[in-house]
Amino acid sequence: MQNQLITDKAYINGKFLRGKKQFDVINPADGSTIGSVPDLDATACKKAIDQAYDAWPAWRDTPVAARSAVVYQWYVLITQHKEALARIMTLESGKPLAESLTEVDYGASFVEWFAEEAKRAYGETIPAPKAGQRLVTIRQPVGVVSAITPWNFPLAMITRKVAPALASGCTAVLRPASETPLTALALAVLADKAGFPPGVFNVITGKDSNGMGKELTTNEKVRKISFTGSTAVGRQLMEQAAGTIKKVSLELGGNAPFLVFDDADIDAAINGAIAGKFRNSGQTCVSVNRFLVQDGIFDAFAKKLTAAVKKLRVGNGLEEGVQVGPLINQKGLEKVKAHVADALTKGAMLLTGGKAKKDLFFQPTVLADVPKDAYIAREETFGPVCALFRFKTEEQGIALANNTEFGLAAYFYSRDVNRCWRVSEALEAGMVGVNTGLLSNAVAPFGGIKQSGIGREGSKHGLDEYTELKYLCFG
Ligand code: NAP
Repeated sequence: MQNQLITDKAYINGKFLRGKKQFDVINPADGSTIGSVPDLDATACKKAIDQAYDAWPAWRDTPVAARSAVVYQWYVLITQHKEALARIMTLESGKPLAESLTEVDYGASFVEWFAEEAKRAYGETIPAPKAGQRLVTIRQPVGVVSAITPWNFPLAMITRKVAPALASGCTAVLRPASETPLTALALAVLADKAGFPPGVFNVITGKDSNGMGKELTTNEKVRKISFTGSTAVGRQLMEQAAGTIKKVSLELGGNAPFLVFDDADIDAAINGAIAGKFRNSGQTCVSVNRFLVQDGIFDAFAKKLTAAVKKLRVGNGLEEGVQVGPLINQKGLEKVKAHVADALTKGAMLLTGGKAKKDLFFQPTVLADVPKDAYIAREETFGPVCALFRFKTEEQGIALANNTEFGLAAYFYSRDVNRCWRVSEALEAGMVGVNTGLLSNAVAPFGGIKQSGIGREGSKHGLDEYTELKYLCFG
């Protein structure tokens, strides 16, 4: 059956347009071509920015109830097309269909949330220090927003940015990852149906990430750049945006620790470990990268985790029951292979897996007693590999967890309520999962500290990123 949401056209100023050149989108599960999309460049970006800029005043001045109604209609259409969107996602990213379906719900929940939340972009009244003054603040949309998103959540990383931007009265130009542009364009098809006026939302695809990124971060008409991706690229975009002092939101890489204390509920910890590690084959920014396990529970945890990992079903995400799909590309696969080889060379013990399978698939792997100087201790592996490190005291565990320049998510398992508070407060991370391996939703603030980023997405704070706080002093 033809998927009605697959398009080979970019979306600029309310029109769907093919490019002079097109590039193919490849299914990582089998190397087949799914479709093609326009290979646009910096000049096309500039045009889209001009259109978004021209569309801004009318959209900004549209009453919030009317704006929210269009955003809400987008939410309705996304949920109505859940199956079709999920299939596109699995085809272009390789993630199991069940995960893609969950991502549609997750991504749609941001659209629903911000359609409502925009109505509550409250200002405040401030008691004046002098007689005859009245002080108030109001929130106003920043203007044209540019957004650059990664392939690992082809839908949700877009809605987390675009929904609050549009709901608060900004216009947006989105450049999705080259691996997963079809989901982004499918969202554009639904946005168009929802009734956004031309130019309010634009999606430009192209291979020239550097050139397009430069335009999106240096063009004076853009007032805000929101990026999700690696720390290296985030750093570059921030430098580029500095020239015109744009507002910047960065959701970057992580190196999430997952501490298991001696007093943990071990079965709950195993469930949390599988959820926190193997979603999207370990290719999420909040994926557990380091399992830090206390001495007294280490062997039992390693044994149970290995047994659970051995049961995971690897394969094409469209097949029933598959839990672990392929890695996104050859570069991703090489990194996983290198991390495993390095850990083994440095003395880690292989408990299961350890090898690449056919094409871009890698065996779910458990490594025990990984030495602290292994690459996997310092860098995101972005693959289905559990690296277990051993610690003795709570202080040592916390010190190990914080021994990274990243600070996105951290998780730990303990049944001692005092320890739960102590460790939660001591972990250097923007988000902490206490006795859970999954923590993200639309109502809570998502984001990192240290080199994992700037700003928060979702929650009431997510709207602040797309508005300016203006202070009015009435004499
Ligand atoms: P990436 O290389 O930084 O790519 C992310 C996006 O940036 C893609 O659209 C990419 O385009 C684009 N890009 C690449 N180089 C660019 C440049 N020089 N200028 C402008 N744009 C550029 O990251 P990735 O490896 O694909 O994605 C995984 C990373 O994202 C991981 O580090 C992960 O932790 C992070 N991530 C963070 C969050 C979060 O919320 N904190 C969520 C998801 C992922 P192309 O596709 O064309 O290369």
